[in-house]
Amino acid sequence: MNKLILASDNAHKFREFSEILSGTDTEVILRSAVGCSFEIEETGNTFAENAFIKAKCVTDFTGMAAVADDSGICVDHLNGGPGIFSARYGAGTAHNDHERMMYLLNQMKNANVRTARYVCSICCTFPDGDVIRAEDTCEGSILYSPVGEGGFGYDPIFLPEGYNRSMAQLTPEEKNAISHRGKALRKFIEEYKRYLNAHK
Ligand code: IMP
Repeated sequence: MNKLILASDNAHKFREFSEILSGTDTEVILRSAVGCSFEIEETGNTFAENAFIKAKCVTDFTGMAAVADDSGICVDHLNGGPGIFSARYGAGTAHNDHERMMYLLNQMKNANVRTARYVCSICCTFPDGDVIRAEDTCEGSILYSPVGEGGFGYDPIFLPEGYNRSMAQLTPEEKNAISHRGKALRKFIEEYKRYLNAHK
Protein backbone atom coordinates (compact mmCIF):
# COMPACT_ATOMS: atom_id res chain seq x y z
CA MET A 1 0.00 0.00 0.00
CA ASN A 2 1.40 3.42 -0.98
CA LYS A 3 1.12 6.19 1.59
CA LEU A 4 0.58 9.85 0.77
CA ILE A 5 0.56 12.53 3.45
CA LEU A 6 -1.94 15.32 2.82
CA ALA A 7 -0.19 18.59 3.71
CA SER A 8 -3.44 20.01 5.11
CA ASP A 9 -5.81 19.36 8.01
CA ASN A 10 -8.86 20.33 5.99
CA ALA A 11 -11.43 17.49 6.28
CA HIS A 12 -13.08 18.50 2.99
CA LYS A 13 -9.77 18.20 1.09
CA PHE A 14 -8.98 14.93 2.90
CA ARG A 15 -12.25 13.41 1.65
CA GLU A 16 -11.71 14.64 -1.92
CA PHE A 17 -8.14 13.34 -2.12
CA SER A 18 -9.07 10.02 -0.47
CA GLU A 19 -11.94 9.50 -2.90
CA ILE A 20 -9.99 10.27 -6.04
CA LEU A 21 -7.03 8.14 -4.92
CA SER A 22 -9.17 5.20 -3.82
CA GLY A 23 -8.45 3.18 -6.98
CA THR A 24 -4.68 3.51 -6.71
CA ASP A 25 -3.81 1.39 -3.66
CA THR A 26 -2.86 4.57 -1.81
CA GLU A 27 -3.69 5.49 1.77
CA VAL A 28 -4.11 9.25 2.30
CA ILE A 29 -2.95 10.35 5.75
CA LEU A 30 -3.54 13.73 7.40
CA ARG A 31 -0.29 15.51 8.24
CA SER A 32 -1.38 15.92 11.87
CA ALA A 33 -1.54 12.10 12.15
CA VAL A 34 2.23 11.91 11.57
CA GLY A 35 3.11 14.65 14.05
CA CYS A 36 3.33 17.40 11.46
CA SER A 37 1.02 20.01 12.98
CA PHE A 38 3.18 23.12 12.83
CA GLU A 39 2.23 26.13 10.72
CA ILE A 40 3.77 26.16 7.22
CA GLU A 41 4.37 29.69 5.99
CA GLU A 42 3.09 30.22 2.44
CA THR A 43 5.86 32.49 1.20
CA GLY A 44 5.49 31.78 -2.53
CA ASN A 45 4.35 34.25 -5.19
CA THR A 46 2.15 31.78 -7.06
CA PHE A 47 -0.33 29.02 -6.25
CA ALA A 48 2.18 26.50 -7.64
CA GLU A 49 5.01 27.80 -5.42
CA ASN A 50 2.84 27.65 -2.31
CA ALA A 51 1.62 24.13 -3.09
CA PHE A 52 5.26 23.05 -3.54
CA ILE A 53 6.36 24.74 -0.29
CA LYS A 54 3.62 22.93 1.69
CA ALA A 55 4.24 19.49 0.17
CA LYS A 56 8.06 19.73 0.35
CA CYS A 57 7.97 20.83 3.98
CA VAL A 58 5.94 17.74 4.92
CA THR A 59 8.14 15.40 2.85
CA ASP A 60 11.28 16.87 4.46
CA PHE A 61 9.78 16.42 7.94
CA THR A 62 8.36 12.90 7.48
CA GLY A 63 10.58 11.38 4.79
CA MET A 64 7.37 10.37 3.00
CA ALA A 65 5.53 11.38 -0.18
CA ALA A 66 3.22 14.36 0.43
CA VAL A 67 0.59 16.19 -1.56
CA ALA A 68 -0.66 19.76 -1.13
CA ASP A 69 -3.00 22.08 -2.93
CA ASP A 70 -3.27 25.83 -3.03
CA SER A 71 -6.23 27.64 -4.49
CA GLY A 72 -8.00 30.96 -4.73
CA ILE A 73 -9.97 33.36 -6.86
CA CYS A 74 -8.37 35.79 -9.36
CA VAL A 75 -10.51 38.78 -10.38
CA ASP A 76 -9.53 40.77 -13.48
CA HIS A 77 -10.88 44.08 -12.13
CA LEU A 78 -8.61 43.57 -9.09
CA ASN A 79 -5.58 42.86 -11.28
CA GLY A 80 -5.76 39.16 -10.48
CA GLY A 81 -6.42 39.66 -6.75
CA PRO A 82 -7.04 38.40 -4.20
CA GLY A 83 -5.30 35.39 -5.83
CA ILE A 84 -2.95 33.64 -3.42
CA PHE A 85 -4.30 35.89 -0.65
CA SER A 86 -7.92 34.70 -1.08
CA ALA A 87 -8.07 33.01 2.33
CA ARG A 88 -6.81 36.16 4.10
CA TYR A 89 -8.47 38.82 1.92
CA GLY A 90 -9.67 41.98 3.65
CA ALA A 91 -7.63 41.24 6.76
CA GLY A 92 -8.57 43.59 9.58
CA THR A 93 -12.15 44.04 8.38
CA ALA A 94 -13.10 40.56 7.14
CA HIS A 95 -12.83 37.68 9.60
CA ASN A 96 -14.63 34.77 7.93
CA ASP A 97 -15.63 33.42 4.50
CA HIS A 98 -18.84 35.46 4.38
CA GLU A 99 -17.14 38.73 5.34
CA ARG A 100 -14.36 38.12 2.80
CA MET A 101 -16.97 37.52 0.09
CA MET A 102 -18.83 40.74 1.01
CA TYR A 103 -15.51 42.61 1.07
CA LEU A 104 -14.75 41.41 -2.47
CA LEU A 105 -18.25 42.39 -3.61
CA ASN A 106 -17.69 45.86 -2.21
CA GLN A 107 -14.41 46.20 -4.13
CA MET A 108 -16.43 45.35 -7.27
CA LYS A 109 -19.24 47.87 -6.83
CA ASN A 110 -18.13 50.09 -9.73
CA ALA A 111 -16.70 47.31 -11.89
CA ASN A 112 -18.07 46.75 -15.38
CA VAL A 113 -15.49 44.10 -16.22
CA ARG A 114 -16.45 41.27 -13.83
CA THR A 115 -14.55 38.30 -15.25
CA ALA A 116 -12.72 36.07 -12.76
CA ARG A 117 -11.37 32.57 -12.38
CA TYR A 118 -10.74 30.09 -9.63
CA VAL A 119 -7.29 28.48 -9.73
CA CYS A 120 -6.12 25.29 -8.04
CA SER A 121 -2.54 24.09 -8.02
CA ILE A 122 -1.59 20.66 -6.70
CA CYS A 123 1.93 19.50 -5.92
CA CYS A 124 3.16 16.10 -4.80
CA THR A 125 6.74 15.69 -3.55
CA PHE A 126 8.62 12.41 -3.05
CA PRO A 127 11.57 11.66 -0.76
CA ASP A 128 13.83 11.02 -3.79
CA GLY A 129 13.22 14.59 -5.02
CA ASP A 130 10.64 13.76 -7.68
CA VAL A 131 7.78 16.25 -8.02
CA ILE A 132 4.36 16.00 -9.70
CA ARG A 133 2.47 19.22 -10.43
CA ALA A 134 -1.07 19.76 -11.72
CA GLU A 135 -3.02 23.00 -12.12
CA ASP A 136 -6.38 24.02 -13.56
CA THR A 137 -8.86 26.88 -13.56
CA CYS A 138 -12.57 27.51 -13.62
CA GLU A 139 -13.57 30.60 -15.62
CA GLY A 140 -16.53 32.75 -14.63
CA SER A 141 -17.62 36.18 -13.42
CA ILE A 142 -18.53 38.00 -10.21
CA LEU A 143 -22.27 38.48 -9.56
CA TYR A 144 -23.76 41.68 -8.06
CA SER A 145 -25.08 39.93 -4.94
CA PRO A 146 -24.67 36.51 -3.30
CA VAL A 147 -26.99 33.67 -4.26
CA GLY A 148 -27.09 29.99 -3.19
CA GLU A 149 -26.23 28.05 -0.07
CA GLY A 150 -23.86 25.32 -1.32
CA GLY A 151 -20.09 25.25 -1.75
CA PHE A 152 -17.98 27.57 0.39
CA GLY A 153 -15.87 30.73 0.22
CA TYR A 154 -16.68 32.93 -2.75
CA ASP A 155 -19.09 30.45 -4.40
CA PRO A 156 -22.32 32.50 -3.85
CA ILE A 157 -20.91 35.40 -5.93
CA PHE A 158 -19.17 33.29 -8.60
CA LEU A 159 -21.07 32.58 -11.83
CA PRO A 160 -19.31 29.81 -13.76
CA GLU A 161 -19.00 30.48 -17.49
CA GLY A 162 -21.92 28.96 -19.43
CA TYR A 163 -24.15 28.62 -16.34
CA ASN A 164 -27.07 30.70 -15.10
CA ARG A 165 -26.63 29.51 -11.50
CA SER A 166 -23.92 30.55 -9.06
CA MET A 167 -21.29 28.04 -7.97
CA ALA A 168 -23.17 27.85 -4.64
CA GLN A 169 -26.34 26.72 -6.47
CA LEU A 170 -24.67 23.76 -8.16
CA THR A 171 -24.86 20.27 -6.65
CA PRO A 172 -21.50 18.96 -5.33
CA GLU A 173 -21.31 16.68 -8.40
CA GLU A 174 -21.95 19.58 -10.80
CA LYS A 175 -19.35 21.71 -9.02
CA ASN A 176 -16.80 18.90 -8.99
CA ALA A 177 -17.23 18.37 -12.76
CA ILE A 178 -16.26 21.97 -13.61
CA SER A 179 -14.35 23.27 -10.61
CA HIS A 180 -10.68 24.23 -10.63
CA ARG A 181 -10.05 21.67 -7.85
CA GLY A 182 -11.97 18.83 -9.54
CA LYS A 183 -10.13 19.43 -12.82
CA ALA A 184 -6.70 19.76 -11.20
CA LEU A 185 -7.31 16.63 -9.10
CA ARG A 186 -8.18 14.61 -12.20
CA LYS A 187 -4.99 15.85 -13.92
CA PHE A 188 -3.00 15.00 -10.81
CA ILE A 189 -4.39 11.48 -10.55
CA GLU A 190 -3.34 10.72 -14.15
CA GLU A 191 0.23 11.87 -13.42
CA TYR A 192 0.30 10.03 -10.10
CA LYS A 193 -0.82 6.74 -11.73
CA ARG A 194 1.92 7.16 -14.36
CA TYR A 195 4.43 7.76 -11.57
CA LEU A 196 3.33 4.63 -9.67
CA ASN A 197 3.57 2.52 -12.83
CA ALA A 198 7.06 3.78 -13.56
CA HIS A 199 8.19 3.06 -9.97
CA LYS A 200 6.76 -0.44 -9.54
P1 IMP B 1 -6.60 27.26 0.42
O1 IMP B 1 -6.36 26.60 -0.90
O2 IMP B 1 -7.08 26.28 1.46
O3 IMP B 1 -5.46 28.12 0.85
O4 IMP B 1 -7.87 28.24 0.26
C1 IMP B 1 -7.85 29.34 -0.56
C2 IMP B 1 -9.08 30.21 -0.45
O5 IMP B 1 -9.55 30.41 -1.78
C3 IMP B 1 -10.27 29.66 0.32
O6 IMP B 1 -10.25 30.01 1.65
C4 IMP B 1 -11.43 30.34 -0.39
O7 IMP B 1 -11.57 31.64 0.09
C5 IMP B 1 -10.94 30.43 -1.82
N1 IMP B 1 -11.40 29.26 -2.59
C6 IMP B 1 -10.64 28.26 -3.08
N2 IMP B 1 -11.39 27.35 -3.72
C7 IMP B 1 -12.66 27.78 -3.61
C8 IMP B 1 -13.90 27.23 -4.06
O8 IMP B 1 -14.01 26.15 -4.66
N3 IMP B 1 -14.99 27.97 -3.75
C9 IMP B 1 -14.94 29.13 -3.08
N4 IMP B 1 -13.82 29.66 -2.63
C10 IMP B 1 -12.66 29.00 -2.90
